[in-house]
Amino acid sequence: MSNSHQRAKIAQLEQKARELQLNPTSRRELQETTLSFSNEFLDTIETLPAFNHEGFEEEAFPDGIFTEEGEELKSLLTYLDEKVHKSGINAASGKHLGFIPGGGVFSAALGDYLAAVYNRYAGMFFATPGAVKMENALLRWTGRLMGYTGDFAGNLASGGSIANLIAITTARTAKGIKGRDYESTVIYLSHQTHHCVLKDLRVAGLDECILRVIPFDERYRLRADALRAQVESDLKDGLRPFLIIGNAGTTDTGAIDPLAEMAEIAKANDIWFHVDGAYGGYFMLTEHGRKKMKGVQEADSIVVDPHKSLFLPFGLGIVLVKSAKEMLHAHDFQANYMQDAEKFNQVLSPAEVSPELTKHFRGMRMWLPLKLHGVAPFRAALDEKLELARYFYSRVAELGFETGPEPDLSVVLFRYLPSRPEEANQTNELMLKWIQEDGEIFISSTTIDGVYWLRAAILSFRTHLEEVDCFLEKLASLPDHFMS
Ligand SMILES: *Cc1c(COP(=O)(O)O)cnc(C)c1O
Repeated sequence: MSNSHQRAKIAQLEQKARELQLNPTSRRELQETTLSFSNEFLDTIETLPAFNHEGFEEEAFPDGIFTEEGEELKSLLTYLDEKVHKSGINAASGKHLGFIPGGGVFSAALGDYLAAVYNRYAGMFFATPGAVKMENALLRWTGRLMGYTGDFAGNLASGGSIANLIAITTARTAKGIKGRDYESTVIYLSHQTHHCVLKDLRVAGLDECILRVIPFDERYRLRADALRAQVESDLKDGLRPFLIIGNAGTTDTGAIDPLAEMAEIAKANDIWFHVDGAYGGYFMLTEHGRKKMKGVQEADSIVVDPHKSLFLPFGLGIVLVKSAKEMLHAHDFQANYMQDAEKFNQVLSPAEVSPELTKHFRGMRMWLPLKLHGVAPFRAALDEKLELARYFYSRVAELGFETGPEPDLSVVLFRYLPSRPEEANQTNELMLKWIQEDGEIFISSTTIDGVYWLRAAILSFRTHLEEVDCFLEKLASLPDHFMS
């Protein structure tokens, strides 16, 4: 191809390719359309149902939807409303009291927007020193909140599941556990350990170890005496106790394990102690939380989800490791094409302590809200949720429901006990169905030791007295046939 011919061809391709580079006018148009669409949602969120049980059976999300020609943004947003926003859980609603609600503080969306517009490379110090320093500052703040001092490290991952995985693989390397050791290696957890931890153990191959499920007490907290006895018996049998996993707020009930005692058992026997605080972690901002989570600072590793108890949008999980050296060691890598970046490794980069290389600049969506609003509203919101949970716990009992143990944090278990107790599980299942079909409020359920419980998890930053009262009124207005 001649030079001029080739240039003409490139120019022709460029004309089409440049459609990806918006001109200022169309960029502003798209911004305005998107903003007014999302503002309409935010302006009316209080009136929207928390759950819509319809739309699950419909046809699959249409295939073959990507055509050569683009479409109008307005019609795409309408499509989004119909195909995505209409069905299932409205996770941004303050009336979402199911599972562990997140919320999604709005200013985080602006952080996301800026992160995507600038598209700074946040994985390596060399690429964007400021982004890495920002992430490290967020990790230091969270670590100090947990009571860590000294030379700890961490990573801002996409959620608690990945954060727990990083902790578990770090523990494996730190304790020198090799494949051939698995048969005699013991991991201790509770019946209430989150299933993602079990999944992580499996991903890491560690499910081939001996897993000891330690019994819980009447408040669903791991029993330290049973743990101690099990470790002693395993040592006597020549096994190798490796890892103890504690909960700082279980998903089922919000229970906090006896962390200080567990840490002591771990330390005395050279066992790695990991604490999963994905739900409960940021309650350390409150005095109540600090009292309940005493001992958490003794853990070798901790997981905390900003997308749960810091009310930020989904996609934020933090892992902290007490020894930066161990965390670095577990993720050691070398690559010839990284030689330019490695010269600048005076500051620990996210890519050096996690499986990710290229990463979302997710620090922005946490940093911006914390800086913009200050910490005080977050702390107040957490104290408010704790008080709302206590309020709900008393009021729901007054309505004639049986309650689970007094909540450690902001999850309340309750159920209705019918005159024929053998029908309790079925009655409460039907109640849940009624509540979910009504849809104004969303709650979920759990089964512990064969007992079916309804759960109210109060953690959205949009959940206040009004929403909790609305739920209590809903429960008071349950059809008579349930209350037999
Ligand atoms: C939610 C949760 C997890 C899992 O975290 P994701 O962010 O959903 O991946 C782990 N542990 C506990 C206690 C949780 O509540």
